[in-house]
Amino acid sequence: MFSVTHHINIAESDHKMRELAINHLIHQTGAGGAIWLCPSSNTPRSSSSLTQTIDGTAFFVEYWGCHSSQEAQEELTSFQNKFPLLMRDSFFTHLTSHPEHWFRGDCAWIPLKNSSMGGILLFGLSGVPSELLKTRTEFLIRSLEVSLENHQRYIEAKQLTYIDDLTGLYNPRFLEQALNIAMDSLNKKNQGFCVLFIDIDKFKQVNDQYGHLVGSQMLTHIGKLIRSSLRKNDQVFRYGGDEFIAILYETELSTAKEIAERVRKSAEARTFRFPMAHIKITLSIGIARFPDHGNNKETVISMADTAMYASKKSGRNQVIVAQPEIHG
Ligand code: GH3
Ligand code: MG
Repeated sequence: MFSVTHHINIAESDHKMRELAINHLIHQTGAGGAIWLCPSSNTPRSSSSLTQTIDGTAFFVEYWGCHSSQEAQEELTSFQNKFPLLMRDSFFTHLTSHPEHWFRGDCAWIPLKNSSMGGILLFGLSGVPSELLKTRTEFLIRSLEVSLENHQRYIEAKQLTYIDDLTGLYNPRFLEQALNIAMDSLNKKNQGFCVLFIDIDKFKQVNDQYGHLVGSQMLTHIGKLIRSSLRKNDQVFRYGGDEFIAILYETELSTAKEIAERVRKSAEARTFRFPMAHIKITLSIGIARFPDHGNNKETVISMADTAMYASKKSGRNQVIVAQPEIHG
């Protein structure tokens, strides 16, 4: 038991933590298998998982001891049918309002400490569990909860190191990782991605005319404007100074161009209002695509940068797609 809790404590991912705990529970209780349910706003991914709506709430489901997702779904339905009263209001309400675990018939229901951690359903149990087994289960679950909480805190702290203090966008430290993920998508799904390199036109003048404080507030507003002009899955980075980078995942050049135009136009149309000043700015945007304009991340960023620079040279406030001839 202590060995399992130790392994849970040092596991690298929350999925691994659950897996260790649940496999141990199955082993200890002699259960046929287990299902882990979690409200799907917190959606970790793994191979043996599915999403299911129960009483109007979307749940993320992982299963052990089932041969297929269909079998897992059947177990879940059978659980709901066996305990209809418990399900009467809503499964989610039940998950949040009944923190005690229980064993009934051939099932056990083990909700974790808070609803975002979900709950574990054991099925195919034989016999009534001993008091010792219940105590051990309690101990294991409390250890799992502490480990999951610590892991969540670690993830949150790590994410903070990827955020730009001024704008709240991602910082360049995260860019490397995001580009790796985007490149992976080409390997797995044969889908390329586009990079928008965005620089504010004549931004020094804003600082000179209205002061550095207003300039910095402008950077925050422009960051928000870029973010809100993009799709949810795209990611925006403050690359440095008045430069921003957007990664448009699984995107063709023609779409990227439309998106970049949307960003450019919404900046052009906007008047940023401050108590002492109404400010207008424009953006120069360069676009490059992986793998069309380069087969590594550095080249794609550099091609997008060069295209942005071409926009500056031809009068600013423009979107330009990288061309091999622009690059050299
Ligand atoms: P261009 O059209 O050629 O881009 O002209 P520009 O004036 O925007 O020139 P450039 O992009 O080279 O200069 C960026 C300026 O952004 C320089 C600096 O004064 C300002 N800047 C960079 N970081 C910050 C910041 O955090 N706050 C403020 N207020 N200004 C910043
Ligand atoms: Mg600039």
